[in-house]
Amino acid sequence: MYALTSDLGDRPIARCNVLGAVPFSEDHDFLNRPYLTESHRKTLELVRMWMTAAGMSVRLDPLGNLLGRYEGTQANAPALLIGSHIDTVRNGGRYDGALGVMLGIETVEALSSVGRRMPFAIEVIAFGDEEGSRFPASMLCSRGIVGGIGEEALALEDADGVSLRQALLDFGLDPTDIAKAARRPGEVLAYVEAHIEQGPVLEARDLAIGVVTGIAAQLRLKARFIGEAGHAGTSPMGLRTDAIAAAAAGVLAVEQICAAGAPDLRGTVGRFLPKTAAYNVIAGEVEMGVDLRASNRPVRDAAAEQIKTRLAQIARERGVALEFTVVQDLPDTPCDPRLVRVMTEAVEAVGVAPFQLVSGAGHDAMAVSGLAPVAMLFIRCERGISHNADEAVAAADVALATRALVAFVEKLALENAVETT
Ligand SMILES: [Zn+2]
Repeated sequence: MYALTSDLGDRPIARCNVLGAVPFSEDHDFLNRPYLTESHRKTLELVRMWMTAAGMSVRLDPLGNLLGRYEGTQANAPALLIGSHIDTVRNGGRYDGALGVMLGIETVEALSSVGRRMPFAIEVIAFGDEEGSRFPASMLCSRGIVGGIGEEALALEDADGVSLRQALLDFGLDPTDIAKAARRPGEVLAYVEAHIEQGPVLEARDLAIGVVTGIAAQLRLKARFIGEAGHAGTSPMGLRTDAIAAAAAGVLAVEQICAAGAPDLRGTVGRFLPKTAAYNVIAGEVEMGVDLRASNRPVRDAAAEQIKTRLAQIARERGVALEFTVVQDLPDTPCDPRLVRVMTEAVEAVGVAPFQLVSGAGHDAMAVSGLAPVAMLFIRCERGISHNADEAVAAADVALATRALVAFVEKLALENAVETT
């Protein structure tokens, strides 16, 4: 029924590649497209043309989100949102975020090219900010459509001291309007996001695409080991309270506990800061940052308790004091079970063995889940590399992702039609 040409994979990739360089990047040497910059503006001009060519009417919302709308057969029926973010981290890859937007456009194009309308409108959304690479807040724009961005956000400043208020003005937007970016729950049927996996699981399983069941719960713990600083030469080995040695044992304990835990449990010590860093000083104090993630809170919190107990034991044995602080506690975001089922069927329908996985990384879907049920589709990326210029996807995989999204939309339409009759 649809033109299943290689365009379905080649075109979204080609478009991401176009957006991967100047003038769609602030820098010549690497991809850098922060929110509300000139490169963002240029990107939206081009994306607007692509959305229009695919048969959508396009508008920019008060937060700088670009929305292309493809009307359905039933006026005023809640719309299906398909999207992702169009900003990048500094020195980012070309597909993180952008590919999800291109796949939304491709999905609409597949329908519009054969004159097909769904009972609901489809809106493709390019969120302006997800990465938080300009202002010290992430998912500003997806939180914005949920109504989660208040006036106070306007005072946020970028590294040059430019406020969000000023940046919106410079972009031609009215900062007093940001509340109007919020969508009413009844307007949105569901939100679907296709995204590169940013991890190696699909590749290891030899699968092009996978269905996300949810976004992991995340906990950041700060552990401070406090011993006593001493002279490296004069303090006998048995008479030291070495904070680095204690914290080092702590790092291995975190790794051990998480490796022995549930398959979706992840524990990382990515932050290890001794107060002194000198050859001749026994460290008196070390700050260690633990990032814990799991598909649900109980698994994550059980691991956190185990880690706290083990670290306390290590501290006791070594005669150092230990303090814990919770730095960040984000609940898990389950994808909607019905949408997960429909997406799983869609993946199967395009000939890929259906495989479900948890997203360890945060995505716009997290924020949008406050507004509507969400679903996500992951696309295999080479060696799981992301936030890196070497990010790569295969055209055949992207074509399968497009076909799965089209199948998802069709199945959803069918189920909705059954429900409403
Ligand atoms: Zn992303």
